[in-house]
Amino acid sequence: MKNIILMGPPGAGKGTQATDLVDRYKIPHISTGDMFREAIANKTELGLKAQAIIERGDLVPDDVTVALVKDRLSQPDCANGYLLDGFPRTIPQAEALEEIGKQIGRPVNLVINIEVPQDILLDRIAGRRVCPQCGASYHVRNMPPHKEGVCDRCGHELIQRKDDNAESFKIRLENYDKSTAPLIGFYKELGLLKSYDGTGGKARLQKELFETLDNL
Ligand code: ADP
Ligand code: ZN
Repeated sequence: MKNIILMGPPGAGKGTQATDLVDRYKIPHISTGDMFREAIANKTELGLKAQAIIERGDLVPDDVTVALVKDRLSQPDCANGYLLDGFPRTIPQAEALEEIGKQIGRPVNLVINIEVPQDILLDRIAGRRVCPQCGASYHVRNMPPHKEGVCDRCGHELIQRKDDNAESFKIRLENYDKSTAPLIGFYKELGLLKSYDGTGGKARLQKELFETLDNL
């Protein structure tokens, strides 16, 4: 059973790991950040509501986010498991997810918490480049694409996210400390939390995650 949450501060490497995990285990990758960015690109009602909030680094209101995830988890492709990336981010979201999990008969059974000290995060965020087409993530120095500015996976041109600037990052980190970090205690108490060192390189963390998930 793989009903999994991937947690960690902005820049922890959630998205990078998520891409490889969902390939290996054939479960849907549910990234609220990606869903919001897609809504913004398509100028939907949700996108128009979320755009300014996201660009300044704040959190989209819980009711909006919960409704989006509830709808997504109710789709048939989640019947064999799911990987949540970037949700929940607040205690009320986690409480709502408990309810949704019961309703769909697929309660969360593992919370992966990737730990990275704050002084490393800003450098990761500042150097991050992403593919707007397939969602792949790179770093100009630590994890460059084969051809500068071009996605290895799909060939699309890479961009820098609007919220990957020092000012928005500061707000994201404050929101993480205030609203998201308390989830660590929440899931520890439920006996679901497993923490991993996110500073040892992409491959090492991936190996550790595969080892855990192969047996889940
Ligand atoms: P990060 O790299 O910071 O983990 P994400 O791609 O997960 O970024 O999310 C980008 C932005 O989308 C967040 O800073 C926030 O504004 C919004 N967002 C994503 N998930 C949530 C959520 N669960 N609740 C509220 N806002 C969210
Ligand atoms: Zn791509």
